[in-house]
Amino acid sequence: MDNRPYQICTNCIMDTSDPNITFDDRGWCDYCRNYYKNIVPNWHPNEKGEELLRPVIDKIKKDGKGCDHDCLIGLSGGIDSSYVAFLAKEKYGLRPLLFHVDAGWNSQEAVNNIERLVDGLGFDLYTEVIDWPEMKDLQVAFFKAQVPHVDTPQDHAFFAGLYNFAAKNGFRYILTGANYSTECVREPLAWHYHASDLRQLKDIHRRFGQRPLKTFPLSDIFTYRLYYRYVKGVRVVKPLNYVPYIKEDAMQELTDRFVWQEYAYKHYESRFTRFYEGYWLPTKFGYDKHRAHFSSLILTGQMTREEAIERIAQPAYDEETIMQDFEYVAKKLDLTVSELQELMGGENRTYRDYKNRMSLISLGTDILRILGIQKAIIR
Ligand SMILES: [Zn+2]
Repeated sequence: MDNRPYQICTNCIMDTSDPNITFDDRGWCDYCRNYYKNIVPNWHPNEKGEELLRPVIDKIKKDGKGCDHDCLIGLSGGIDSSYVAFLAKEKYGLRPLLFHVDAGWNSQEAVNNIERLVDGLGFDLYTEVIDWPEMKDLQVAFFKAQVPHVDTPQDHAFFAGLYNFAAKNGFRYILTGANYSTECVREPLAWHYHASDLRQLKDIHRRFGQRPLKTFPLSDIFTYRLYYRYVKGVRVVKPLNYVPYIKEDAMQELTDRFVWQEYAYKHYESRFTRFYEGYWLPTKFGYDKHRAHFSSLILTGQMTREEAIERIAQPAYDEETIMQDFEYVAKKLDLTVSELQELMGGENRTYRDYKNRMSLISLGTDILRILGIQKAIIR
């Protein structure tokens, strides 16, 4: 695969930095083909979508009668989840509990945005603060493992915290900001392995961690997709797939209403993510997640291919900010700058170098694809 000649899709900007990408005669990649074949016909960000979602919203309200809250919304501080919270109030009249996981990396903009949104909407907010020594230990373990997916500890804390809380407190509905509009091209697993593979997380922590994870939220992909769903009855609803969701317009709306502050890139509400996606991953591994994000925006008509090519050619970081963030991340993890640099120079590994449940997860994904539930490509 490494000797493969460089090729870039002629319709989006995904390229051979995704080792498993395939192209057809026109030079279109498999993400593009999948988008038109499987996503477009089943995606209704319009009146039909509203019709499909209405009974679900009615049911959430009905089931939640007499409870303090009728659903749970995980709020990261980013645009997608913030907009879901906004819709829950303005469009659907729901009574959610907003749930935020503080994994220690919130940018100041994110903190401000969450405060303004929560105040503006008048919803209750519950914040789960992750024990920092545990978070730090797991984070450093992933750096030492030399895998590309060093954002797994943060991602895992976000979703496991949310799902565990829902199951424990009897919530029957979780509303998430997942959506086709900005995520129809998923990052390939080579760039971003499943953060929900608990076997992998535990193996990496066992090898490189130093303190036990006593309070860190843990949840296996099968726990929440099967046990929580079918035994505990926790359902996940993705409202953004049923309305016209144009990122720029949504940001403008929140900015106007709540003095919400924009981030330069998707997921930059976390300082760790900014460092990781903007610098660590592209520099050490040659993977640029913006390539997938921009490709999604091209397919959904929110960015031209020319604009995306121009933007991807520019580094997401200027030299000075890299140095500052490098120091910030090192210091926060109790590493010296040279120790973090040494980790940066280490030999790259993949999720396959550690225990994982990839074959079982793939089987699950295949079944969901056959059933028509999973539409985006995950590979
Ligand atoms: Zn493509």
